[in-house]
Amino acid sequence: MTRPTDTIRPDVLAMPAYHVNDATGLIKLDAMENPYTLPAAAQRALAEQLATVALNRYPVAGNGPLRDKLKARLEIPAGLDVMLGNGSDELIHLIIQACAKPGACVLAPVPGFVMYAMSAQFNQVPFVGVPLNAADFSLDMPAMLAAIEKHQPAVIFLAYPNNPTGTLWPADQIAQIIAAAPGLVVIDEAYQPFAQTSWLPRLLEAPNVVIVRTLSKLGLAGIRLGYMIGSAAWLQQFDKVRPPYNVNVLTQATAEFMLDQLPLLYEQAAILRAQRAVLFDALKTMPGATPFESHANFILTRVPDAPAWLQGLKARRLLVKNVAGMHPQLLANCLRLNVSTPEETALLINAMKELSAS
Ligand SMILES: *Cc1c(COP(=O)(O)O)cnc(C)c1O
Repeated sequence: MTRPTDTIRPDVLAMPAYHVNDATGLIKLDAMENPYTLPAAAQRALAEQLATVALNRYPVAGNGPLRDKLKARLEIPAGLDVMLGNGSDELIHLIIQACAKPGACVLAPVPGFVMYAMSAQFNQVPFVGVPLNAADFSLDMPAMLAAIEKHQPAVIFLAYPNNPTGTLWPADQIAQIIAAAPGLVVIDEAYQPFAQTSWLPRLLEAPNVVIVRTLSKLGLAGIRLGYMIGSAAWLQQFDKVRPPYNVNVLTQATAEFMLDQLPLLYEQAAILRAQRAVLFDALKTMPGATPFESHANFILTRVPDAPAWLQGLKARRLLVKNVAGMHPQLLANCLRLNVSTPEETALLINAMKELSAS
């Protein structure tokens, strides 16, 4: 009798499933979501629009109309192409899949976004993680350049800013990495609305760079829409491995609707940036807490005992993420706290204060 264990790849058998915390009854501050929902009038208008969607038809091939609207609304310069993905997670996967030649490897600073290593593994490509400097999670440039020289990575991922540290790499260091890269450099701008800076103006300077972004952190995590920006020469190749109908009709329609609501989403991002400063300043005054400066919609902070603080927050109905498991040395006793509404951020600050005083 055939068993799954006789057939499935050994590395898949050995790995755990992607774990999502149960948030029932808790205030969710663990997944970098936007805490705001759509105003009632916009909800009704969207519902009306969605009611007319042709659910019986496959999505428009290549997502053309949505792509064009996105390029216009997000001011993507002429001369650059856009490719859409089912979240930027899918785009990360497709990039690695298309580059997975024998001998290819993927390189990124660690701790970093978990999907780079996971997608590399799924595509059976070795992953090289280059540790960040322990003191401030800055890039260890000599180590980065030495690793690039030694491993000749097909793809380098730079999250700009980085998750889970919130670090924004200096532009001259990115330029140095791009110059040293023998293959593609992917600048992952998932947190661009909170960093308020972008590599986009410099994208055409070097031929070996693409940018990946997402609407998730801006407020649309549920619709799963990511986009890649780059030259036609790269995107034409990646488009070949894209599943033909990867963005479904409801996502297409919702995204087209929401692209007319961008001022609302940008206003929310501005509130969150202000709350980031409030949370950071509060954490700095708390005995035992060591927050790291963040350019994203979360703050990484070291505490004396991360599991105890996680439980303490949970007891106060607040769900955050203990990220120590992502890198046991560099992220020892580190929690990642979402920035949220003024009300939820105040609750978080009070709870953290109580824990730091006890
Ligand atoms: C959240 C995140 C993404 C994934 O976004 P989706 O579009 O929701 O798949 C990509 N990169 C980084 C660095 C992230 O933190």
